[in-house]
Amino acid sequence: MKESIEGRIDRLHAGGIVDFHFDLLIDLYEKRDRPGALVSHFLPEFEAGDISMLGVAIYVEDRYLPEMGLRVALDQVARLYAEVEQTNQFAICKTFATIEQARAAKKIALVITMEGVEPLGEDLNLLRGFYELGLRSVGLTHARRNAAGSGGIFKPSGSARDGLTNFGRDVVRECDRLGIIIDLAHINPKGFEDIIGLTSKPLIVSHTNARNFYDIERNISDEQIMIIGQRGGVVGVNAILVSSDAKTTTLDRYVDHIEHVIGLIGIDGVGIGFDFCEYLFEQLPEKVRTELASKLTKPHFIPDLTNHSHARNLTHKLIERGFSDEEIEKILRGNWLRVLEECL
Ligand SMILES: [Zn+2]
Repeated sequence: MKESIEGRIDRLHAGGIVDFHFDLLIDLYEKRDRPGALVSHFLPEFEAGDISMLGVAIYVEDRYLPEMGLRVALDQVARLYAEVEQTNQFAICKTFATIEQARAAKKIALVITMEGVEPLGEDLNLLRGFYELGLRSVGLTHARRNAAGSGGIFKPSGSARDGLTNFGRDVVRECDRLGIIIDLAHINPKGFEDIIGLTSKPLIVSHTNARNFYDIERNISDEQIMIIGQRGGVVGVNAILVSSDAKTTTLDRYVDHIEHVIGLIGIDGVGIGFDFCEYLFEQLPEKVRTELASKLTKPHFIPDLTNHSHARNLTHKLIERGFSDEEIEKILRGNWLRVLEECL
């Protein structure tokens, strides 16, 4: 009997989906007076999308910097631990073995990541502190400049020309020593170049898009994609910067980005970094939204891929576009798990 498409999605999802970039901690922190938000607010979507592992990012918004950076970051991590403690459906994982145990127990494995090292100030010692709390992947910058380096801007050119600072170089070396994966998402082109010269470990870009379809320096060029491939790394495809134009911000365009990466570095180099943040964006006052749009860019959201419950739509589309089971499994989880096994 021929398998139905829903049956095939069920089978492909049985091993769970890995999304390596989700700004969960900002929201848990903002909802700190509403304990239980992880279960009441997020779990239903994770379950509907068969999510089995997430990279959850520490990110400190401009309004808290610089004075409150460290404090807010630690509060975010504390909220995560407090939320996870209240349920047996999640596990904060510091090793590959615990990720596998969590997945086997049908828990959602959470790996703590950092998007911008503002919380460290210029104190390398704090990186060790965050490592002990579970930090396992670090992106040096968001779009702004910090003590480590500068981010890529949301325009085709014009990012800061300078690369990493001495502190940024120290952070990369210390990450290597501790076993923290370097994430090249957001870094400016010169910073990207500096990092690849400093480390020989597998490198990842947790959430980004191809400049081929959306030419801004926040996204990555074909040349940069090839470097990630040569390092045995993974490019996580972002759901919110697939196009500059709302009309072509579609699930098909998302899959175009996946195919583009595969065309350059093969099926082993691509994963998911959805970066779902429409819910965060919608919570912002109109004024802040306009401000953000002018400072960064006005994001467009893919209508049928705006939160984790939509993961099945992606798998459906991958099937429709002719991907094999083996290929789909690598995209949905296998490639991320391979890199995590190698690095953690
Ligand atoms: Zn980001």
